[in-house]
Amino acid sequence: MKRRDFIKVAGIGVAGAATLAAPAIAQSMPELRWRMTTSWPKSLDTLHGAAEIMAKVVGEATDNKFQIQTFAAGEIVPGLQALDAVQSGTVEMGHTASYYYFGKDPTFTFGASVPFGPNARLNQAWYMMGGGKELLNEFFKGYNVTSLLAGNTTCQMGGWFRKEINTVDDLKGLKFRIGGFAGRVMQKLGCVPQQIAGGDIYPALEKGTIDAAEWVGPYDDEKLGLQKVAPHYYYPGWWEGGPMLLVFVNLEKWNSLPKYYQAILEQAGHHANNWMMAKYDTVNPTALKKLLAGGAKLHAFSPQIMQASFKAAKELHAEVAAGNANFKKVYDSLTAYSNSGYQWFQVAEVGYDNFMARHSQS
Ligand code: CA
Repeated sequence: MKRRDFIKVAGIGVAGAATLAAPAIAQSMPELRWRMTTSWPKSLDTLHGAAEIMAKVVGEATDNKFQIQTFAAGEIVPGLQALDAVQSGTVEMGHTASYYYFGKDPTFTFGASVPFGPNARLNQAWYMMGGGKELLNEFFKGYNVTSLLAGNTTCQMGGWFRKEINTVDDLKGLKFRIGGFAGRVMQKLGCVPQQIAGGDIYPALEKGTIDAAEWVGPYDDEKLGLQKVAPHYYYPGWWEGGPMLLVFVNLEKWNSLPKYYQAILEQAGHHANNWMMAKYDTVNPTALKKLLAGGAKLHAFSPQIMQASFKAAKELHAEVAAGNANFKKVYDSLTAYSNSGYQWFQVAEVGYDNFMARHSQS
């Protein structure tokens, strides 16, 4: 090809791309206005913040053709009705913790975390590549929703106790604010689980109506000020080793989206997921130092309590699995994935983390 001809052809090509491509994409992108309810008050800026980040990314990636407006708990529906609102089509999306709905079916617990489930890394890896997403979405289909990964709190704390607890006997009769499926494990250990909204925890502990309460981790817990009324701060929250937050999307609305909007929503959720973990890893260390300076007394659950809790959780899982095929199918998948993951983690990750943790005190 002569140089002059090449320039001519190339010139047409570039001009053609410039004049055709932009309008073609713009025309094919429908303008959408969706609503996303969350299960969080705005004050939980890591949890609610992830939903806002997700909406922002979708707007930016689509030149605001696809806009999602986020609503805190109670603005459209109460926080624990996010799934119902998405299922019925009241809203298109809901950012929530799937285990809130374990009363409908215990299988919902796997969309967030199951007691003694995997840590954040392995939980999201199972969802993304271990068959978790497919299994869960097959189950969620029965509720007219599908799911997207959209956050992880990372390992939570075991909560605030008015008195020290050292043995399993110390748990007998203990009135413990702990939600959902984990409450049923605690019941096996003799605890009396209590369902109390976040804002009511402080007065209940102060009056002694309850003996202990779990919430999230240092950053969110600090806002409740519980160290003043229940100073013994235990770890780890074995019922929430790495809980995922999912966004439920109404199934018909999801199926009505062009493929590129589905891809953008999925990627925005992944961004929110990474954002939330980075946020917690940034704010929790400082919050823990402040809590300790403010009188919190840090304790690990004793090996006896950990072992007894593990045994009680496994018994409960087996009992539920015996009567619920969905639960069994998802539980078997997650457990096999988690066990295999930890066999690898104990070689490199855990050894390295332990070494680095010991050398991080200066
Ligand atoms: Ca919690």
